[in-house]
Amino acid sequence: MKRLLPVICALMFYVPAWGWGQKGHDAIAYIAECNLTPETYAKVVKALGNHSLVYYANWLDNASYTPEYGYTRTWHYANVDKGYTYETMKKNERGDVVTAINDVVSKLRSGTLSPEQENVNLRILIHLVGDIHAPLHAGHLSDLGGNKIMVKYFNRDYKLHSLWDTALVEAAHKWSYTEWQKQLDIVSPEEKSQMSQGVPEDWLEESRDIAADIYINTPPKSKVAYSYIAHYTPVIEKRILSAGLRLARLLEEIYGGR
Ligand SMILES: [Zn+2]
Repeated sequence: MKRLLPVICALMFYVPAWGWGQKGHDAIAYIAECNLTPETYAKVVKALGNHSLVYYANWLDNASYTPEYGYTRTWHYANVDKGYTYETMKKNERGDVVTAINDVVSKLRSGTLSPEQENVNLRILIHLVGDIHAPLHAGHLSDLGGNKIMVKYFNRDYKLHSLWDTALVEAAHKWSYTEWQKQLDIVSPEEKSQMSQGVPEDWLEESRDIAADIYINTPPKSKVAYSYIAHYTPVIEKRILSAGLRLARLLEEIYGGR
């Protein structure tokens, strides 16, 4: 027990930066990889310096803390308060996940970036398409996307935001990222085409709708355990699959015609 104590403490106070956590981001990137044409996949890997999409899936959550990429700190989310939509909510002047994805996509589409700029923009895109699908990344500004709401998760104190970014994904399935792809990526081509539609503004609104439901079902001091995991597992699965398919579609639009 003594040896376990530091681990338990670290888990209690661990606040993931801003994302699905490693597993969710890796699964999304791998689903995208598996849905790219071989030609597009080769172009993307070349632009990433021979790294896979999975390799950079979680990179920005750490990089945003460095001086070099500090400008991306606010790009992981877009807070929308109750009664507002993304459109009516006051925008963060430093950028948000919607403006960042749109900006990065248009830069990548321009075909005028240096190899270094293309590499960085691609890494950012891979990560942010994951983040925009995390419901509490469209959470209220008033509670900092659920960071100010404490809940009891199996009798441990958790921030609602952390619960959704990491704990629930890990609790839903004890799968590797390749198993997440294998288990979820089984829908028909027609369904895939349907699921991959939309623009970042739409995806953020979907996240906001799910967040509204989460706020209702998880007020402060809620006790959350097995039934909550069972209820939200299909939601998490759909967000991860949608994110992967949408990332693949964006990359095909950027690289498919080149
Ligand atoms: Zn993030």
